[in-house]
Amino acid sequence: MSDLHAQVRACTLCAPYLPLEPRPIAQFSSTARILVIGQAPGRITHESGIPFDDKAGERLAGWLGIDAVTLHDPARVAIVSMGLCYPGKAKGGDKPPRPECAPLWHGRILPVLPADRLTVLVGTYAQAAYLPAMKGRPMAERVAGWRDLLPERIALPHPSWRSALFMREHDWFEQDLLPDLHAEVAARL
Ligand code: SF4
Repeated sequence: MSDLHAQVRACTLCAPYLPLEPRPIAQFSSTARILVIGQAPGRITHESGIPFDDKAGERLAGWLGIDAVTLHDPARVAIVSMGLCYPGKAKGGDKPPRPECAPLWHGRILPVLPADRLTVLVGTYAQAAYLPAMKGRPMAERVAGWRDLLPERIALPHPSWRSALFMREHDWFEQDLLPDLHAEVAARL
């Protein structure tokens, strides 16, 4: 396992395409029964080296019904996003995760996690990769299908400031989905 961590940390595969030096950021262990697959580290995360170490992470922890310490505990929560390095800025947000990354690393990291894990697919890129049948459907439709996906998986919007609007427009998210999600997370911790 420590070998795999070291191999991930040493990856420089797409260095020519990254705006800063590669800094692969992921947390995982053989006991983490919650897996979060997000988009890619932002600039703040690139500096800290801690995944979801920002406002979005605070919101995500709240959605999962856990505190920041638990979210950042690799023994309990794995965070292995579609891109492990900061991809740089684009108009209106960050660039997409590097397309080389998930095919290279997910096949090596995910098999070391417990089989009975809950996979939390955060945002469009993770959902396109792991819910291909729902590709092209609006985010609200993908998220609203949570009862069909649990107990193995769940789709969530990216927990950025924009998600406040999503929550206002879809009151079932807080009223119905989050209590179900909290129960699934609690059962695995
Ligand atoms: S984004 Fe992924 S594949 Fe590219 S250098 Fe970082 S860890 Fe390696």
